[in-house]
Amino acid sequence: MIAEDKWVALLLPREIQNLSDEELIDGIKTLKNQWGKRCQILAHHYQRQSIVDMADFVGDSLELAHKTNALPETEYIVFCGVQFMAEMAAALCRSDQKVITPAPNALCPMANMADMAQVSRVWEAIGQLTDIKKAIPITYVNSLSEIKAFCGENGGLCCTSSNAKNVVKWALENGERILFLPDENLGVNTCQALGIPKENIVIWDPTLSDGGCSQDELKKATAILWRGYCHVHTHFTLQQVKLARENYPGCLIVVHPECNREVVEAADESGSTSFIIKYAAEAPSGSTIIIGTELNLVKRLAAMHKDKTIAPLSASVCPDMERVTLRSLYWSLLNLGKVNLVSLDEPIARSARLALERMLKI
Ligand code: SF4
Repeated sequence: MIAEDKWVALLLPREIQNLSDEELIDGIKTLKNQWGKRCQILAHHYQRQSIVDMADFVGDSLELAHKTNALPETEYIVFCGVQFMAEMAAALCRSDQKVITPAPNALCPMANMADMAQVSRVWEAIGQLTDIKKAIPITYVNSLSEIKAFCGENGGLCCTSSNAKNVVKWALENGERILFLPDENLGVNTCQALGIPKENIVIWDPTLSDGGCSQDELKKATAILWRGYCHVHTHFTLQQVKLARENYPGCLIVVHPECNREVVEAADESGSTSFIIKYAAEAPSGSTIIIGTELNLVKRLAAMHKDKTIAPLSASVCPDMERVTLRSLYWSLLNLGKVNLVSLDEPIARSARLALERMLKI
């Protein structure tokens, strides 16, 4: 586990800086009791155990999006995750609800790999070569709100790792080609699972002129995938899969689809966070399961299923997810509605909501 960010903690008043974990836990529980259902803490599965212990609901991105839509008595949604998740909640929640992020500095590096200026260039290139009305933009929810808004405005939608296959299928039934943002690996793994031929998949690299694609490649592409990645999941390698099979003969290896294609192909199974959780729960007692995803989740699954051997493919932590601490959560609850509020400009929120709601209907 990454230690608490001391520099951020130093920005808080001295009396908060000096509280022990036990005092913070007591303080959080007292405030939760005071607010009752009016305040709900939602946490992503990759959060530290101490935060998960304080949460009212723990889920993956899709489950958390659904939950945001189903909190009738709640005025304050305290979202323990990274910025794009809190913004997604802000886009989906009612106008009388407020979303709070305990760690405003918890950003997702992958989300920042696609901005509107860059995406406009690929959209223009697609429009010059093909009928743009038949192109459907899809963005993984791990993206900036402006990218979700762009998808909403252009007949597109969001996806998560749980529903990416259904979303891509829907898009190709309603259009001729997709632009998939910003995770190349989720795009490749989804397209290949759906049987889209390799020659009809191109990768658009925003750092290269013309994305590194020839006009011919772009014209015949069914799927144009953005070259972005999650460093937590590209950390896993084929070598680690081979080593795990040597060290744990007969083990089952399950990885997240944000991993490289070769890692996904070498694993026994690949699937979203909720798939991995179910896989670990349903594996027979006594089995050995090696998991390629964020370490906090793997450690929790190992603690939950003591009748099985569960180990990480390699230790890979998301440092941004770890920015939410007991201290930052306590501070946010103590000043509920006054600090760390998340808001979106209404035009962005409206269009992003469109893309999210299209996804939630699939
Ligand atoms: S695990 Fe990867 S995709 Fe998720 S927040 Fe961290 S960097 Fe972003």
